[in-house]
Amino acid sequence: MTTFIESSRCIAQYDPHALPVSAAQAIVRQWVSPVMAVERVPLRDALDRVLAADIVSPINVPSHDNSAMDGYAFKRAALATSESAVQLTVIGKALAGHPFTGGIDTHQCVRVMTGACMPVDCDTVVPQELVERSAGVDTTSIRFAADAVAAGANRRLAGEDLARGHVALRAGRIMRASDLGLLASLGIGEVSVRRRLRVAFFSTGDELRSLGEPLDPGSVYDSNRYTLFAMLRRLNVDTLDLGVVRDEPAALEAALRSAAASADVVLTSGGVSVGEADFTKQLLRTFGDVAFWSMAMRPGRPLAFGRIWSGERPGVGLPALFFGLPGNPVAVMVTFYQIVREALLLMSGATPPPLPVIHAKSRQVIRKRIGRTEFQRGVAEQDAQGQWHVAPTGSQSSGVLSSMSEANCFIVLGHDEGEIDEGERVDIMLFDGLI
Ligand code: AMP
Ligand code: MG
Repeated sequence: MTTFIESSRCIAQYDPHALPVSAAQAIVRQWVSPVMAVERVPLRDALDRVLAADIVSPINVPSHDNSAMDGYAFKRAALATSESAVQLTVIGKALAGHPFTGGIDTHQCVRVMTGACMPVDCDTVVPQELVERSAGVDTTSIRFAADAVAAGANRRLAGEDLARGHVALRAGRIMRASDLGLLASLGIGEVSVRRRLRVAFFSTGDELRSLGEPLDPGSVYDSNRYTLFAMLRRLNVDTLDLGVVRDEPAALEAALRSAAASADVVLTSGGVSVGEADFTKQLLRTFGDVAFWSMAMRPGRPLAFGRIWSGERPGVGLPALFFGLPGNPVAVMVTFYQIVREALLLMSGATPPPLPVIHAKSRQVIRKRIGRTEFQRGVAEQDAQGQWHVAPTGSQSSGVLSSMSEANCFIVLGHDEGEIDEGERVDIMLFDGLI
């Protein structure tokens, strides 16, 4: 078996002591594989699930040419009969769901409502606002300027929304509200989706207390499990919360092996920073194939990544992908969004588009060291001209979780960027849509 650590060495820029974010992302991408199991679910349950196969449209939508306006349908030849005004006799009407079934001559028209089937041979609709109506004893006629509409105007063509035999939705799509409606418009009430990814997670640290426990001196409440739970929930994966695990090899081994037995991915927080990594490293060597990285990133420097098994040594028992996240609460979130999120989406079978990046003007000088990527927490606002402006939130310490709650974006300062001047352009990633 090629070990993960050996194969990672082949990646350009592989330096476990200062691993660029892009290199870490590339390595992680190589090691993920999507869950293969598929289940059929009723349409409503498909929201936020990953489509397992292409959906080919079984019908044309709309099924018939129909009117896009309330107005009068006629043959385009009528426009050619006059230089200035067109006069047509109204011979019937068509409502949505109630078609007009008769034939029609060039000097005639049919009153149509939006969505009504186009009467046979009619190809143009003049909106009702553009006509003058005159009612006779037993006929009604309309008049409108010949240049009021172009031939073929205001008609929706059969199959214009979705054509029969064409792919309506691609496998790998995360189903949104419009997709549910779109499938309903095709008459499809059940779809194949990938089974949900199972992600187990726990926190490590003797200082951590769970909610409900008293906070004795020197202890802190475990917040990472709640942040992780919420971030995972947003990705619509199944979560397995394994609680707080003490910094003891036996407890850690038991938790990791049982997590590997029951989940596709195992996330932990804490215990991978320099002081604590040695014992975790040694332990993970016995039943895992895990690299310990120092990332060229702030926050989120220490990160362990690889595979672990539920058995007593690598390759024995059930495997799981493993991410050992830093302990600091902000570092957990940043590492999750920049490294873990994409991996979980790929493993869920999704084809995640890259996260949108927006340009903003910095409201102030921002200190930054060349040679690492920084994800500062920022507050961004758009001015009346549409230009975005951003300022970092106060403390950028990786332990200050309130900086995430105050912020509405990450200010992404690239690996090769140095100090930012006031007014200089920076990249931001808005939390809305990401979180
Ligand atoms: P570690 O990486 O384990 O050395 O932890 C780094 C810092 O993050 C320490 O101050 C920890 O107390 C803190 N920390 C670790 N895990 C958690 C957690 N689950 N919730 C809140 N703070 C944590
Ligand atoms: Mg710790």
